[in-house]
Amino acid sequence: MNIKIDKLKEGDNNLFFSADEIMSLKSEDLSLVSSNELKLNIQKNSDYLHIHGSNSVEYGAVCDRCAAEYTTGLIVNIDYFFHIGDMKTANSNDIEIIYPDDNDGNLEFSGYYRESFFLAQPLRFLCSEDCKGLCQKCGADLNRVQCGCKDEEKIDPRWEKLTELLKKNK
Ligand SMILES: [Zn+2]
Ligand SMILES: [Zn+2]
Repeated sequence: MNIKIDKLKEGDNNLFFSADEIMSLKSEDLSLVSSNELKLNIQKNSDYLHIHGSNSVEYGAVCDRCAAEYTTGLIVNIDYFFHIGDMKTANSNDIEIIYPDDNDGNLEFSGYYRESFFLAQPLRFLCSEDCKGLCQKCGADLNRVQCGCKDEEKIDPRWEKLTELLKKNK
């Protein structure tokens, strides 16, 4: 995902990255299933670039409760300010400005895309809102089976020691 800075004109620029190009970023921690085209709008103002846009992707995730793999989607929002060239005296109050190290007329953007993807992740992954998770006693997937463990036996392992202690004292 290269952005050719030299080719940008002052003001408004539109840049497209195809779905295939996004899919080529697929990796172990970015397990893309599908993507649509990414359209970036780039505002160039002398040495400053404001790059923004969004696209939606589907990717594989693992449920925090039952450990099942499932496919989910999200919108990747891109919003970055860059300063190109040597001068680093520029200042801004509210916005974070990135000074890419080596820009020989190119801005390699895939790292920023990946970062935006990870920033968009939900706090927890659930295969469904009412996922029942795994039995803490026997490990059965409670979405699929009723394991037969009695409710009182489904003790959080962290409480086990305490429960034993209480029984001894009876
Ligand atoms: Zn689940
Ligand atoms: Zn069980």
